[in-house]
Amino acid sequence: MKKLFTHYENCALCEHNCFVNRKTDEGFCKASEKMFVASEMVHVSEEVLINPTYAIFISGCNARCNFCYNSETAFNPQKGVEVSPKLLAKQIDFRLLQNPEVKTVSFLGGDPIPHLPKILETISFVKTKTSFVFNSNFFLTQKVLKKILPFFDIFLVDYKFGNDFCAEKIAQLPNYTQVLQQNLLVFQKQKLLEKLLVRHLLMPKHFDCCFVPIVDWFAKNLDKVNFSLLLQFAGSQKLSEKDKFLALTYAESKKLKLVF
Ligand code: SF4
Repeated sequence: MKKLFTHYENCALCEHNCFVNRKTDEGFCKASEKMFVASEMVHVSEEVLINPTYAIFISGCNARCNFCYNSETAFNPQKGVEVSPKLLAKQIDFRLLQNPEVKTVSFLGGDPIPHLPKILETISFVKTKTSFVFNSNFFLTQKVLKKILPFFDIFLVDYKFGNDFCAEKIAQLPNYTQVLQQNLLVFQKQKLLEKLLVRHLLMPKHFDCCFVPIVDWFAKNLDKVNFSLLLQFAGSQKLSEKDKFLALTYAESKKLKLVF
């Protein structure tokens, strides 16, 4: 865990590979070594596997999705309240004591990748027995992924784009397909598929270019993985009922392990 802290001085936590000293300079995500929490709450509308969860929204993100509904905090890593790992761990213990029905603690954002070193330290300070969820765009380096595998019980992956063109154009994520697929296959190689829960948010007008290639890839490579299809796109364009029906029918026809 301690080794991850070197990334604050030479950051290659994610595949942007900025190699900046975050104490003095800014990389793509603009996050310094300080961790800010934008909000926190008990969530009851997540997938059954993790529900109810105590969700901690960390400010900052390593993607720039042009439809982001959280851009105020995702694109401003200094938004919210600065927390130390010890303070955040105390808050987690307090919330779990207040809400004994809570099953899991989720780190999300923005995206939690830029603050992984401090998140792992936070987990090490939590006294209450619980399960930890890493909810991320998964654009982290494979080297970092392998280091964090033992610390989380569930990896909730937002697999957003089915091709590199859309990923680059919409979210400024280069070489996206290879990064995501290689990272996901690590779970198969290490026999940790039970830790994996993948989400795809269906986007209007991205059925053939994004949705279909993702579903086809899962059907071919990771058909036993829990797959959550989200149909509540909140951008300016809306999904039609026909789009939603076609997407569910297609995913079912490919025998994906759909979870809700
Ligand atoms: S987390 Fe990613 S985007 Fe942010 S500084 Fe590090 S390598 Fe760059």
